Amino acid sequence: MLTSVISLFSRAAVAGLFPPICSFCGTRGSDPQTLICGDCLESINWIGEPFCSQCGKFAPGLHHSPARVCGSCLSSKPPFESARYGAHYNGSLRKAIIAFKFYGALHLRRPLGYLLLQTYERHFLDARFDVILAVPMHEKRLISRGFNHVLLLGEKLAAETNIPLDRTVLRKIKDTAPQVGLTRAQRKNNLRGSMHVADPQRIKGKRVLLLDDVSTSGATLTEAAGVLKRSGASQVHGLVLALKSDTNDDHSASL
Ligand SMILES: [Zn+2]
Ligand SMILES: [Zn+2]
Repeated sequence: MLTSVISLFSRAAVAGLFPPICSFCGTRGSDPQTLICGDCLESINWIGEPFCSQCGKFAPGLHHSPARVCGSCLSSKPPFESARYGAHYNGSLRKAIIAFKFYGALHLRRPLGYLLLQTYERHFLDARFDVILAVPMHEKRLISRGFNHVLLLGEKLAAETNIPLDRTVLRKIKDTAPQVGLTRAQRKNNLRGSMHVADPQRIKGKRVLLLDDVSTSGATLTEAAGVLKRSGASQVHGLVLALKSDTNDDHSASL
């Protein structure tokens, strides 16, 4: 007992003297829970109002309109009930996502998971979900990368929210070409028929929270939500960590 108390005190003293290094910028002084320093946290460019209540995209015109739905959703209703994005895909967040996803910097799971949780709490705290799903990767890509980075973030969110995570029901059955450089219509076509629900009974009547890390056009959410709805999901809501503008396409583009 005495040993564990001393150990607790010494760990607290060490944490005070040597606060952990920020996983985003590498300077000492991050929060031990999130591994992000105050400066990096402040630099996150969160997506603010006004955004469309359905697709979640920034829609300045809605400031002057009683409708909360953008023109694009009014003309072509997405299959999901809503989608919400955390922050703009730039600066330290963009670097962290690239390092996590493409260079296996798995320690970034904690800070990125924290930012995803912040996004969830901001938009979905009062919502009720039966299951969390991650946007799936094709087996071939999963083997070459070794992990599904979105699933890793999903595990963290599931642990924090107590919503069950289903890792296998939504599958990517077509190894689609990267979406970089494609137009919106081409992105949609590229993904058509690329996903499959392995066991519709696990989805039937369920309120689904569907996760992704980065989105540009929302094409992946649209494709996945369509498959889930046709398989019997009662609701599908998208939660995406970062929103990329059409103009900053780079090799990390997934959508
Ligand atoms: Zn930092
Ligand atoms: Zn919209």
